[in-house]
Amino acid sequence: MKDIESYIREIPDFPKPGIQFKDITPLLQDPDAMLETVSRLIEMIGDVKIDKVVGIESRGFLFGTLLAQRLNAGFVPVRKPGKLPYKTYSEVYELEYGKDTLEIHQDAIKKGETVLLHDDVLATGGTARTACNLIKKMGGIIVQCNFLTELSYLNGRNKLRGYDVESLFIY
Ligand code: AMP
Repeated sequence: MKDIESYIREIPDFPKPGIQFKDITPLLQDPDAMLETVSRLIEMIGDVKIDKVVGIESRGFLFGTLLAQRLNAGFVPVRKPGKLPYKTYSEVYELEYGKDTLEIHQDAIKKGETVLLHDDVLATGGTARTACNLIKKMGGIIVQCNFLTELSYLNGRNKLRGYDVESLFIY
């Protein structure tokens, strides 16, 4: 098997000029690479009991559910507005141009539960920060913000100060 990092393909100027899109679909096509990726993401967490893995729409769902299964934890989706069918909590956040909203089901996390936040890419950190705010409001204890890749030149870590932030591949 090749080095896992080589399965993450960079697509220049997608979906907009200037964005270097990290495409993980080649990684998803290879079962051994996926298994190895899950193991490496788990290693970053260490020996802590996780009750819930929260994955951010939509690519955070992919390894998020695999991580939850390996950790014997539940999986919770954080989604764009209007997608979750049950009662939700929501939080608005600023984008470069305009605003966006993330939602979570009100019964998804119980007070005192330990939570691993996972997404495929940490870029400016606005999305992950908003998800953390929702988890905290519900009384969840965020053990780690866990990412497959981090675009360090966008300083997303600054928005996640106070949290343990771990990324498998840092660019
Ligand atoms: P941000 O809020 O700026 O940290 O953006 C993170 C979210 O946007 C994640 O859910 C990523 O899936 C997505 N994202 C941002 N930049 C990229 C990129 N260069 N390649 C792939 N996904 C990205």
